Amino acid sequence: MAILVTGGAGYIGTHTCVELLLAGYEVVVLDNFCNSHPTALDRVEQITARSLSVVRGDVRDQAILEATMHHFAIDAVIHFAGLKAVGESVEKPLDYYENNVVGTHRLLQAMQKCGVETLVFSSSATVYGEPKQLPLTEDHPLSATNPYGRSKLMVEEMLRDLWQANTHWRIAILRYFNPVGAHPLGLIGEDPRGVPNNLMPYVAQVAVGKHAYLNIWGNDYPTPDGTGVRDYIHVVDLAKGHLKALAHLNAPQCTAINLGTGVGHSVQEVRKAFERASGQTVPYKVSTRRQGDVATCYADAQLATTLLGWKAEHDLVTMCTDHWRWQSLNPNGFSNG
Ligand code: NAD
Ligand code: UDP
Repeated sequence: MAILVTGGAGYIGTHTCVELLLAGYEVVVLDNFCNSHPTALDRVEQITARSLSVVRGDVRDQAILEATMHHFAIDAVIHFAGLKAVGESVEKPLDYYENNVVGTHRLLQAMQKCGVETLVFSSSATVYGEPKQLPLTEDHPLSATNPYGRSKLMVEEMLRDLWQANTHWRIAILRYFNPVGAHPLGLIGEDPRGVPNNLMPYVAQVAVGKHAYLNIWGNDYPTPDGTGVRDYIHVVDLAKGHLKALAHLNAPQCTAINLGTGVGHSVQEVRKAFERASGQTVPYKVSTRRQGDVATCYADAQLATTLLGWKAEHDLVTMCTDHWRWQSLNPNGFSNG
């Protein structure tokens, strides 16, 4: 099977390409490299000892999508391409609606024209908004608190409408919790532009000496140690979830599935686990809460097990160990080669 992976040069995309190649799929990556580096794809080939095809292009460009689907006889699409920074989305909402919503619309139109009707879409736990009950099950009410989240929600609604009108489509909407870690060889990993917004890459940069300390955004939450609790999932587990979802798309459906561990960890737990994994100290200061943050967020991951036969395997120690290996071997990410 030939799989088109949009945004395949990015953090989750590269890890998914590794698993696809190892499983024997033909892989075609379409990426505009606005938040990634072509070197990442060379590393994917190095890890797997297989080659993939790369198209430098934009998901908003329907013509290039159609040409790519025809040329490579694409059977299914895994759609990662998009922008993902919550803060930036508040400042530049139109960029988010254009890349994430318009981009997906063009992709769906191209798929429809080319008769490609199997799609795995990268959604996010952000579509649950403020949790009303925990753990978060897939039937939890959906809402958004920022333009990024709203763009994911809009795409989800677009996919459900498309499926209502064309019930032969095969669509998996994967709602990721907090992807962290890296491939165990340390050749690929998250390479954030500028100062990271997310916890694990920031902690890793403190450990490698790029920042003096971690700002803990609030220690007065109603959690065991007062710091925010999240469901961190190893990116390799997440990548494997995509292959399970593809295998499950052997029949028409439009299914939303959580990919998380079902276990929450606080900021302090992550900081301490990273210290143990890296052997470095990660000093911290407590700051005021970050606007829009919720106290606690973790998945009910049962549906993924029941439907897909998937379960996250890696614990927080492995997530930190693998993240640290990537960070310490590549302190400047992919930019020096
Ligand atoms: P990433 O930025 O590392 O990867 C996204 C890739 O898409 C990059 O290679 C980028 O260059 C490319 N891209 C962006 N806009 C494009 C466009 N218009 N045309 C072509 N390529 C484009 O991000 P990631 O962490 O790998 O996330 C992948 C997907 O998963 C995103 O849709 C994101 O919203 C979603 N997601 C990520 C997280 C997370 O915490 N990392 C959580 C939930 C959901
Ligand atoms: N966080 C923090 N300092 C940072 C980055 C994040 O204290 O520099 C906290 C944040 O308040 C939240 C948790 O770490 O409680 C996870 O934040 P992240 O941005 O990684 O994920 P999200 O909040 O989007 O789930």
